[in-house]
Amino acid sequence: MKQKFLMGNEAIGLGAVHAGVDLVCGYPGTPSTEILETVAKINDTLQHKIFVEWSVNEKTAVEVAAGACLAGRRALVTMKQVGLNVAADPLLSLAYVGIKGGMVLAVADDPGPISSQTEQDTRTFASFCKIPVFDPSSPEEAYELVREAFRFSEEYGTPVLLRPTTRICHGCASVKVEDFADVERPQEGFVKDTAKWVIFPKTSYLNHARIERRNAELEGILSKRPYNRIVSVGQGAPIAVAAGGISYEYVREAAELLRAEPGNGEISFEILKITTPFPFPADLAREFLEKHPKILTVEELDPVIERALVYLCGKYHIDSEVRGKITGDLPSAGENTVSEILKALRQFAGLPAKPEASEASALLPELPVRPPVLCAGCPHRGSFYAVKKAVKELGRSAVYSGDIGCYTLGNARPLDMVDTCLCMGAGVTMAQGLQIAEPGVLHFAFIGDSTFFASGIPGVINALYNRTDLILIILDNATTAMTGHQPHPGTGVTMMGEVSEKISIEKLLRAAGVERVITADPLRIREAADAVKEVCAGTGVRAVIFRSPCIAKIRPAAPAEIRQDLCIKCKRCITEIGCPAITAEPGRIQVDSTLCTGCGLCTGVCPVGAIETGGDAE
Ligand code: SF4
Ligand code: SF4
Repeated sequence: MKQKFLMGNEAIGLGAVHAGVDLVCGYPGTPSTEILETVAKINDTLQHKIFVEWSVNEKTAVEVAAGACLAGRRALVTMKQVGLNVAADPLLSLAYVGIKGGMVLAVADDPGPISSQTEQDTRTFASFCKIPVFDPSSPEEAYELVREAFRFSEEYGTPVLLRPTTRICHGCASVKVEDFADVERPQEGFVKDTAKWVIFPKTSYLNHARIERRNAELEGILSKRPYNRIVSVGQGAPIAVAAGGISYEYVREAAELLRAEPGNGEISFEILKITTPFPFPADLAREFLEKHPKILTVEELDPVIERALVYLCGKYHIDSEVRGKITGDLPSAGENTVSEILKALRQFAGLPAKPEASEASALLPELPVRPPVLCAGCPHRGSFYAVKKAVKELGRSAVYSGDIGCYTLGNARPLDMVDTCLCMGAGVTMAQGLQIAEPGVLHFAFIGDSTFFASGIPGVINALYNRTDLILIILDNATTAMTGHQPHPGTGVTMMGEVSEKISIEKLLRAAGVERVITADPLRIREAADAVKEVCAGTGVRAVIFRSPCIAKIRPAAPAEIRQDLCIKCKRCITEIGCPAITAEPGRIQVDSTLCTGCGLCTGVCPVGAIETGGDAE
């Protein structure tokens, strides 16, 4: 045993390695990405390598893992909560088929949301899929639970979800870790059994009944596991609270803060800690409900615990009042905070409210507002600007369908080039629908290289086959930039560090039937705008691939300089492209040399040639 200071995602990755995982795959997505990357890093030190893969999307990852698990291997699949929607198809079927080797899906939820398009709750998804979910309340517990989840998965022959939230994933803590034996586990391999591994309707019917019986039994079994428990804080008649995930730790902290206030020393708490929100530890919860006439539930996202307690009150005729999100005691959306919970506890306990300003967080200065913006030197800025310029020169109207990635930030002014954004890959297909509804205008679909491989290709084929008139703009920066530069099939290297033949986007498009495909450099404004104008003249699905590497992956060139003797202070370099490296100071326009990457885009905007760069970015 040793003590290590770990980020939650590192603790999960390390826990999986220590559980003897054989294969780890997933699709990057904040806040889950570092789990797989941790395993990849540890892999370098191992004699018996773990197979690690960034799959093209979450559905593919679950299917790859399912194959390995059927052969008795242990597999970890990582993704963020919206990725679970993409993986839902194989996962729901796999819940019926079952597995042989342990399978854990680490699905990170994003209350807030901080970097997601939804605030969906994986605990709710677990009950929909009918598979168990573990909800860690700290990085240390996440390390323990991932190992327990593998054991549990094999014991009950089911995939298992581990649901850390952002503050668990990215929070750091001192974690007690086991010594690890780097040995190969004996494998039985895949044993053919069509009655078991082939999902026919009759098998599904029988397995459905079996799963319902198993989950009902688990309600009792999980009531006895130590991670579902009742925790006392102080002595005396307690205030009863039920909580799970990070909210459990917040409740404990708020309880201690409340007890530390003058005159509150006698207040005590009894907390029902729910670590498996599905199947719900019903026996333990019933015992808690029968003891307490009034309970406050504290959780993030859906009122999962609250609903389960209300259900048990009805089922067993327990006269206990359950309060929480449904009753309006706590907010129905967003993250919880200790100060908010402190306020709710005060109200629940009938204590006088404190003025807002006296709460610790209210005494802290406001953080400066930092709106998200494309990086200085980002090639996407050039791509958006080129399309805007081309459309303006053609005197046409256009609708711009965006997609998920750094380039969603093209919506910000002055670019203002993202009219819609829904989910991964939807830019192409929404542009198709918009074109059917409004055939008279130009329809552009912007999509990044990683998103194109993840979920853009079926949309392109759909648009082609159904004879849509749209312009595909592929923003190829040769990486998955938004989540930290993970490889994808266009990068030519795998997560195992092997060189692989790059999949050519041009060849894919041409093979599918896109006849007009132009590749252009988005930092050469004239060339880029002309490429757009050329495809605008055609019909059907046509494409411009704007290819320029992500600025964070290359060495910047010498910064640009503005010749003050030439500058007429028209501010076009600011109002047209919005590069954060250019600012207007009293009496002068200037470039911040610490931000500027010398990309040269602004030189093509200045009407008097006042901006000089040392040369092209490498
Ligand atoms: S576009 Fe050129 S002239 Fe206009 S403010 Fe910028 S540097 Fe000066
Ligand atoms: S060269 Fe111009 S556009 Fe490029 S990063 Fe520097 S200031 Fe921004």
